[in-house]
Amino acid sequence: MTGGLLSGRAAVVTGAAQGIGLAIARSLHAQGAKVALVDLDGDRAGQAAAELGGAVLPLACDVTDEESMDTVLRRTVEEFGSLDVHVNNAGITRDASLRKMTVQDFEAVMDVHLKGTWLGVRAASAIMREAGRGSIVNMSSLSGKSGNPGQTNYSAAKAGIVGLTKAAAKELAHKGVRVNAVQPGLIRTPMTEAMPSDVFAEREAGVPMKRAGEPDEVAGAVLFLASDLSSYMTGAVLEVGGGRLM
Ligand code: NAP
Repeated sequence: MTGGLLSGRAAVVTGAAQGIGLAIARSLHAQGAKVALVDLDGDRAGQAAAELGGAVLPLACDVTDEESMDTVLRRTVEEFGSLDVHVNNAGITRDASLRKMTVQDFEAVMDVHLKGTWLGVRAASAIMREAGRGSIVNMSSLSGKSGNPGQTNYSAAKAGIVGLTKAAAKELAHKGVRVNAVQPGLIRTPMTEAMPSDVFAEREAGVPMKRAGEPDEVAGAVLFLASDLSSYMTGAVLEVGGGRLM
């Protein structure tokens, strides 16, 4: 594609095999980006990439693993010639009340969200600062703004991603690298489809727009932050929550 918002640029999206990550990969690709679809499950990343068509690179990667993350970004630059956009989207939940949550539940969520995002920001920014340009987008959550019962691990990690985003934005601004975050509310994906239906309905009823969001509606905000449309924005946190928690 020529003339898209991201024409000729190269992007990495983690957690891209399904849900919000897949919608982001589709949206960046539709605007002309070459996209590396990164996921824990390389086969499912391959299936997602095949759906998008050309100029894609499916890669298996555990975002909690330093070497794995570095390899993904190196492979992307080898294949596409640059790294212009990096989206830290991969995520998991291990919900439980404080009485029932184990240290393993806490650490697993911290590892994927906080350590994974930090590793992604560190590796991507090392490449982008050399090029003198780039946009990093981190996936936080309104859960990190409000705190959700049963999600002390997830809310802490998602709030931590906001601090990480702002600190990295300040370090990298003078190098031409922008770092922003998105805080989705309740979005219909395999992650939320795993919630008990009464809990989902109760959360949905609390949204001013009276519906859950769709993955494409988060992807729109990420596309904006990834592109030059947001060229004077860094350290920002965009809420995509249908009016929740305004
Ligand atoms: P999802 O449907 O569960 O998709 C998450 C993807 O991340 C999966 O493909 C998963 O792979 C992958 N992943 C998990 N651990 C990984 C790891 N260690 N390394 C690489 N990939 C890994 O989730 P989603 O709802 O699309 O959520 C995407 C992001 O948005 C997450 O950061 C989530 O916290 C955030 N978010 C979601 C909502 C919502 O309502 N859905 C709201 C706010 C924020 P496997 O399936 O193979 O494990």
